Amino acid sequence: MFFTKLHKKNPFIKNISMAVILSLLLLPLSGCAVIKSATKANSKITRTGFAFDTVISITLYGTEDESVLDGCMELAEKYENLFSATIEGSDIWNINHSDGNSVSVDRETIELLQTALYYAELSQGAFDPALGTVIDLWDYNSEDPTVPEETDIESALEHIDYTDIQLDTDTLEVTLSDPELLVNLGAIAKGYIADRMRDYISSQNVSSAIINLGGNVYALGSKPDGSDFTVGVQKPFDSTGSAITSLSISDSSVVTSGPYERYFEQDGVIYHHILDPATGYPSDSGLLSVTILSTDSVDGDALSTTCFVLGEEKGLELIESLPDIEALFITSDYELVYTSGFPR
Ligand code: ADP
Ligand code: MG
Repeated sequence: MFFTKLHKKNPFIKNISMAVILSLLLLPLSGCAVIKSATKANSKITRTGFAFDTVISITLYGTEDESVLDGCMELAEKYENLFSATIEGSDIWNINHSDGNSVSVDRETIELLQTALYYAELSQGAFDPALGTVIDLWDYNSEDPTVPEETDIESALEHIDYTDIQLDTDTLEVTLSDPELLVNLGAIAKGYIADRMRDYISSQNVSSAIINLGGNVYALGSKPDGSDFTVGVQKPFDSTGSAITSLSISDSSVVTSGPYERYFEQDGVIYHHILDPATGYPSDSGLLSVTILSTDSVDGDALSTTCFVLGEEKGLELIESLPDIEALFITSDYELVYTSGFPR
């Protein structure tokens, strides 16, 4: 492990602070409090909540229509009830409890599984939507997380082959050819949901918004004054949560994956939540974070996790081969490495 000893902190607190910092950085420069008499063009409304195990926050500009924020929160609930691996009766829960029988699911679940399998194939398994058995051993959310037994990891690794997830796009059925396999979409679902919120907000005639799902950020349009939004990239492991750099974006997604988002420490070693399917242990690729800039957040979410596992060299090679997607890698020396087309 390349990580040195760090203070143990509550991962939940870290997620909140990250979300708060992001939202502060996202404030427009003119960001004063909304006053009742503000004209509609200058108005701004925000809703913050908790979903997908993290803090989410939606800000709409140029509208006072709270019902659009209600709609966003309803979407968060709808998708959590489809994609969560832990909510009983969700599509993913049903698949994971199917004993090898075919399960009927929502069209959108098939759609997201298709995208997840595409990235599994593209990354040759570095991104693995079938990693559930291993993920469940690493219980970062428990009071006192510990490193799993090696024998348990070995057994779990026998059931992580994503080619065992069979999709029937006509009948909308999913079948696991390995009944012990557990699907987990935690590394891609927030990106998909951010994209659906963007589509919904646009359909409600709101043209300027920031969707922040636990650091998975989508900027719809630009700020009301026409300038780009500013999104901060967090300095990894910085206890004050300061930004190491910031990006100016409009109509784009910015997603960062890093070990500092969720981790625990045991015997001086940091164990984080981005796992290497080749070993069953936290990925030790020599990176502190990967940030992906893309048009759709689903791609950014999948690729930030993927590139973190692949490491700098293979990750850069992958992103350079994909049109319209750029990346920023932060190395263990806090060096910033950009892809060739990264806007700077
Ligand atoms: P976060 O959702 O915390 O922002 P990521 O998008 O990087 O971060 O997803 C990490 C989550 O995805 C982990 O908490 C775990 O549930 C799952 N996961 C971990 N490693 C992998 C992997 N190699 N492939 C697919 N999913 C993974
Ligand atoms: Mg991800």
